Amino acid sequence: MTKAIRIHANGGPEVMVWEDVPTPSPGPGEALIKHEAIGLNFIDVYFRTGLYKAPTMPLIIGQEGAGVVLAVGPGVTGLAEGDRVAYAGPLGGYATERVIPADRLVKLPDNISFQTGAAMMLQGMTAQYLLRRTYTVKAGDTIVVHAAAGGVGLIMCQWAKHLGATVIGVVSSAEKAELAKAHGAAHTVIGHAGLVEDVKRITGGAMVPVVYDSVGKDTFNASLDCLAPLGLMVSYGNASGPVPPVELGILAAKGSLFLTRPTLATYTSKRADLERVSADLFDVVGSGAVKIQVNQTFPLKDAGAAHIALEARKTTGSTVLVP
Ligand code: NDP
Repeated sequence: MTKAIRIHANGGPEVMVWEDVPTPSPGPGEALIKHEAIGLNFIDVYFRTGLYKAPTMPLIIGQEGAGVVLAVGPGVTGLAEGDRVAYAGPLGGYATERVIPADRLVKLPDNISFQTGAAMMLQGMTAQYLLRRTYTVKAGDTIVVHAAAGGVGLIMCQWAKHLGATVIGVVSSAEKAELAKAHGAAHTVIGHAGLVEDVKRITGGAMVPVVYDSVGKDTFNASLDCLAPLGLMVSYGNASGPVPPVELGILAAKGSLFLTRPTLATYTSKRADLERVSADLFDVVGSGAVKIQVNQTFPLKDAGAAHIALEARKTTGSTVLVP
């Protein structure tokens, strides 16, 4: 047997139960890994509450981790027992041991710890595709990043600055504003009530070519109003709830805007993309250009407390669950 946090129904943090589950054995194309660290992400909340539909019940939530290969199934090449690995994507993360499609694992470079690996794979690869592919951030761009002191947010601030961009980070408190600034945000805005005016002032009226909005319902309209004509609205999360249906005409009225709702799954679905995106992330972390801030750790069995903190906006940077 092994230990895992499972949900048997959708609901609050109390539906997460720490229990024995049978130790899985790897089938064809799969690997069995022992987690050394597991990443906490807002998507775990969406699967717990039911905003995102569970593929099975009971369900082991969690989509990010780092650890050691214990065994590989038939047909797996390029991976062996003892390899240090990390991943983001496949559900089943809140467990001491798990099986996973071997082609979703990447080898963790020696200079990156398990804890850093677990903290950065999902949030860091998200920052990579958002800044490097959804919109290609260039030196001289001014961009808006919501939840700038969060897990994805602190990585975005550092990486965008590294690319030569000026980041306007949106946060909910003065402490978070300081943190975002310490990680590369040139400007911070507290709350979104005055966001549009602040962006107008900071950009001299030009507004911005791209807004990265992970907050969703509460900020969607203000985000659109921060865009320059032909700007790109990247709505990539729902921390405040999903964005209600959008009347397309609003994109015309506000300046022929573009709108996308991207997911990491799409941007890393091909093995070649996963390798390229993770290698880019390992480069910026390895060089020190991006530092992964693990600002909270919880024992895996206390994942409920971690969810309460994340949903209450009490966390900053990344959070790791320790099995
Ligand atoms: P964060 O650490 O950023 O935590 C969420 C933050 O959102 C909070 O700290 C808070 O920051 C802000 N927030 C605003 N409104 C609310 C609210 N009503 N309730 C709770 N939080 C709120 O989480 P992650 O780094 O794990 O994820 C950030 C976002 O990115 C999430 O929305 C997530 O779903 C999304 N995401 C999307 C991916 C994709 O590919 N599409 C991949 C990875 C993440 P503040 O207090 O400063 O407002």
